[in-house]
Amino acid sequence: MTFSDTYVNTLTALGLDSYATDEAASKFEVLYQSLVAFNSHTNLTAITDEAGVILRHFADSITAAPYIGERSLNVLDVGCGGGFPTLPLAIVRPDCRFTALDSTAKKLTFVAQMADLLSLPITTLPARAEEVALTPEYRERYDLVVSRAVARLPMLCELCLPFVKAGGRFVALKGADGEVELAEAEHAITKLGGKLVSQKSFTLGEAGGRVILEIEKVRPTPATYPRAFAKIKKAPL
Ligand code: SAM
Repeated sequence: MTFSDTYVNTLTALGLDSYATDEAASKFEVLYQSLVAFNSHTNLTAITDEAGVILRHFADSITAAPYIGERSLNVLDVGCGGGFPTLPLAIVRPDCRFTALDSTAKKLTFVAQMADLLSLPITTLPARAEEVALTPEYRERYDLVVSRAVARLPMLCELCLPFVKAGGRFVALKGADGEVELAEAEHAITKLGGKLVSQKSFTLGEAGGRVILEIEKVRPTPATYPRAFAKIKKAPL
């Protein structure tokens, strides 16, 4: 089977076929080859087989795409690592503007190289989330904040919700434990100005259970948040 066939079949099985265009497939093939090449000298991922990357990185990231909606949004990915979900989202929604934030600059090197090679609308931001979220340039500036595999939800809300503008949303891509994390995070969501507006549980093929939580920003985040990382970690809201 060709790369394109595997990509189209994987997305179709997940009901994401509207993102399975030929143009997207050819960009994902370049991204896959570049990821494996970069990963041979700088660790970005433990998953390198073609079907595994398509399912666990590309399709998993694209599950956030329907939350963008019709409008072109200003999107921030907190803790994007090697570019997930930012890179796949930028391939399927090149009309939006993406900021890829991570504290590890060498991972962002790959994201910037891919943005350049594939002409994707991504700006990289090497920084700690809890530090830049306190600055007027980034605080409450984004229509949509996304994040995958960065922290448990109470901590993650403190790192992400301060970036969301009034009426904007934070979409957390979670594993099978997402509902348990949601129960733990109810206090944090309210305290930080958020309100849960949707939750979706599904199975990402053989990768297993996934939960997507969509949180709207209904009030400004109090100025005291986010706290220093040691405090967020020691005493999650
Ligand atoms: N989101 C990517 C993915 O799903 O493949 C990367 C996940 S990786 C397990 C977690 C990433 O979050 C790391 O690259 C780490 O540097 C970043 N990270 C963790 N805490 C952070 C913080 N406070 N500010 C910025 N980046 C952070």
